[in-house]
Amino acid sequence: MCGVVGILGHHDAFPELVAGLTALQHRGQDAAGIVTFDGGFKLRKGLGQVNSVFNGNRDDFLSGPMGLGHVRYSTHGANEALDAQPFAVNYPFGIAMVHNGNVVNFQQLRRSLYQENHRLVQTTCDVELILYTLASELETKNLADISVEEIFESVAATQRRVDGAYSTLAIIANVGFLAFTDPYGIRPLLMGRKLTDRGMSYAFASESNCFDYLGYEFLRDLRPGEAIFIDTQRRVHSRICEARKPSFCVFEYIYFALEDSILKGRTVAGERVRMSRKLAQTFRNTGLEPDIVIDVPSSAYFFASGMAEELGIPYRRGLVKNPHMGRSFLKPDQESRERVVQQKLNPIKGVVEGKKVAVVDDSIVRGTTSRHLVKLLKGAGAAEVYFVSASPPFRYRCVYGIDMSIKREMLAANYEVHEIAHYMGAEAVVYQKLEDLKELYQDLPCCFACFSGEYPTHVSNSLLDAIERERVYSKSK
Ligand code: AMP
Repeated sequence: MCGVVGILGHHDAFPELVAGLTALQHRGQDAAGIVTFDGGFKLRKGLGQVNSVFNGNRDDFLSGPMGLGHVRYSTHGANEALDAQPFAVNYPFGIAMVHNGNVVNFQQLRRSLYQENHRLVQTTCDVELILYTLASELETKNLADISVEEIFESVAATQRRVDGAYSTLAIIANVGFLAFTDPYGIRPLLMGRKLTDRGMSYAFASESNCFDYLGYEFLRDLRPGEAIFIDTQRRVHSRICEARKPSFCVFEYIYFALEDSILKGRTVAGERVRMSRKLAQTFRNTGLEPDIVIDVPSSAYFFASGMAEELGIPYRRGLVKNPHMGRSFLKPDQESRERVVQQKLNPIKGVVEGKKVAVVDDSIVRGTTSRHLVKLLKGAGAAEVYFVSASPPFRYRCVYGIDMSIKREMLAANYEVHEIAHYMGAEAVVYQKLEDLKELYQDLPCCFACFSGEYPTHVSNSLLDAIERERVYSKSK
């Protein structure tokens, strides 16, 4: 999962790009990068968070009224500076690109780009594949006077060749600004605008909170398979190029997006509360009687408080999170994951001591966090611990950009619920039910593949295994 932001303004885009990336920092903390266009592309990227890569200072090098920014969460490829986005290519026109998602048919695409288009893919970053595919398709058009129609045809051809999830932003030098999603619209991409003293500025971002911080008016989400092209006269053109069954990633609402963001017209906080009501029903049916409900900060707050309210049980803040620790989940091995989890969360003894505690998290993947928390809560004197997951059990690998591609690491893919409770040392484990989640999203077709195994794109077992091998290999580097 990553975050992208694009600015097509009249003044300096750089400060807005930095502020936008900072608002999206939760979507990726491995690397950050910015490209601006000022007659030529100016590009800077590196490993680490936005404030360490861009140092909080003005950057005179990154000049120009338009640009693209990216924060990276690596699910594919090695975590090397080389793989950080943006990427740029000099022909045709000069194109710079960022994307959020994951290309699934990377092996076949790499081969076809070399054999058919004579382009050598040099990194393991999948935006290179999308960029070269788009460049190869544009190359076949009338470059002396390319039309909007030809741009959209090139996007459609790219969407037919590239399988997977990709919400993409591109600057085509002296031609225009381009935004498009994959035909299923798996990852979010939103458009905003702001009237300035020199005319209309446009912004694109992975989440609407970005527009709030930058003072842009939110216009709309891109539709599945849609491309928006803004030409050099600032005329906005849009087209659904290649659309298939809409499949928005439901995990965006559960975990990835921040609570204040609005995706597909729904506030993330409100979605979590809706999910918490279903979770409460399931919990009630277990007959368990906790004294308090606590959350694993911070993504589970609305699940826990909503569930407590529905059950009529007090919600308490029972765990404190050290905000300066990085993400445990993304560490390459179990030992370092456990080390980060240990330094990240601490129980408030006075709150949990002697209590039967229902602790709610957004998800259980490998069980590292939950197992450690049960130990901590019991160490702090909790009488009983019931671990509640706002996600249904993850039984299938995600190939669309969530780092869940190694099956043997996924608890629910390998064990029954009572075995998971035993492993964690909890009195009970309660999961959200997949059918409840599906019921909540009857009116918004979502991707539930990591829970159900129903992948929107074509995904064979051999492809899943190839992705898993690639992930295991890159983590071992
Ligand atoms: P685990 O400790 O492996 O069971 O993972 C669950 C914890 O990691 C939960 O606290 C989640 O908030 C967080 N989490 C779940 N999925 C992801 C993901 N794909 N990337 C980063 N963090 C995640």
